[in-house]
Amino acid sequence: MSDIWRRSSNILFLIFVTALLWMIFGAVKALIFFSVVMLWVVFHHIRHLVLLERWLQLSDHSPASIPAGSGAWDDVYAHLARYVRGHSQSQERLSIALKRMQSVTSAMPDGIVILDMSDRIEWCNTVAEKHLGINLALDVGQQITYLVRQVPFVEYLAARQYTNPLILNQIRLYGLIVSLQLVPYGYNQKLLISRDITRFEKIETMRRDFIANVSHELRTPLTVISGFLETLSADDNVNSGFNKRALVLMTEQTTRMQRLIEDLLILSRLENEQNKISEKTVNVVSLAQDLLQDAESLSTGRHQIKLTIASQDQLLGSEEELRSAFGNLISNAIRYTPDGGEINISWEKHHDQGLFVVQDSGIGIELEHIPRLTERFYRIDSSRSRETGGTGLGLAIVKHVLNRHEARLEITSQVGKGSRFNIWFPAKRLIPGNA
Ligand code: ADP
Repeated sequence: MSDIWRRSSNILFLIFVTALLWMIFGAVKALIFFSVVMLWVVFHHIRHLVLLERWLQLSDHSPASIPAGSGAWDDVYAHLARYVRGHSQSQERLSIALKRMQSVTSAMPDGIVILDMSDRIEWCNTVAEKHLGINLALDVGQQITYLVRQVPFVEYLAARQYTNPLILNQIRLYGLIVSLQLVPYGYNQKLLISRDITRFEKIETMRRDFIANVSHELRTPLTVISGFLETLSADDNVNSGFNKRALVLMTEQTTRMQRLIEDLLILSRLENEQNKISEKTVNVVSLAQDLLQDAESLSTGRHQIKLTIASQDQLLGSEEELRSAFGNLISNAIRYTPDGGEINISWEKHHDQGLFVVQDSGIGIELEHIPRLTERFYRIDSSRSRETGGTGLGLAIVKHVLNRHEARLEITSQVGKGSRFNIWFPAKRLIPGNA
């Protein structure tokens, strides 16, 4: 309010002086005086507006460059100077924070790229430049897919499901293998984190190759030994009790080793990424019927085995792999269910998903073991596993097969009552059968 009165007092004083002149010198002289003063006021404001506009056009908006004003403009410029000072201080604080962030991220062993809502590069650190073959100075504002053109990366970005990282082989960057993880943040922005896993992947490949080679090399000598053992067992001249017992034991152990080697080879094949899954139509109904026959011969009448077919849907995938996964679950159900127990196998459709179930009334599994069952050689009771012909690799094989079929394993169990293994297949893998 005080400002309005201060500014209005000048006009009131002018009107008062004009009125006084009017009374003394007459209307004409008073109006001339009023017009001259008004013209001077207008000129004063136009001059300051021009000065302000020139200042706004300057590239350097430092407080020192603000023009000096008089009258009301003095206050305006003083406010402007205060605002500019505050603004440049906060800008300085921001740039210090940004520099600190950049030096922290530059020191990180991981690459970091900031992408805007249209997947254009806003910023990246030097590690990311090396991992992805980009150059920030030249590529800022570029679409990331123009620079990292590999199809898996383009698909990963488009899929908008970033729970798992993507492993990318950067062949053009000296065979670098990087793991890429996208993290959405803010308003549709993304952080792309890259990690060099070349060494880890090389060791992993060496491990896989080693197991595959050793298993393969052991297969032939074992076949020879088992052949001779078979011949010797059939030989009537082996008449000593000790020799007969030794032959039985040797045959049993050789068979166990052969089973172990077969399972290790299956796992190596499943792990090998170059071994692409064969996408064929699998008739689950006839596969389940075959498996029921196998189960009955394995159980030799010791269990009640029931098969329920509630869907004629077929599956897209590899029959050999699915046979091995389902077969492992069924053989486990038989091996871990005491004589007289029940085993139910079923194939059904639930909310567009395929569901294969193997349920038994066996010994059950304690809750704490369930998350670790699919690890290689994880056994709850090793002697029971061995006695019943287990290798400790069955559920690891199941897990790999299911991963390759984008399926999910669900295990529920109660000790002493039995276990239920549910395999859920996504709707995209189901092929409607003739009902
Ligand atoms: P194994 O050859 O030892 O059976 P698996 O990988 O098939 O190896 O299974 C791992 C472990 O999980 C088994 O040793 C067993 O302890 C437990 N298991 C698997 N299936 C069942 C089941 N149906 N009932 C109870 N325990 C089971």
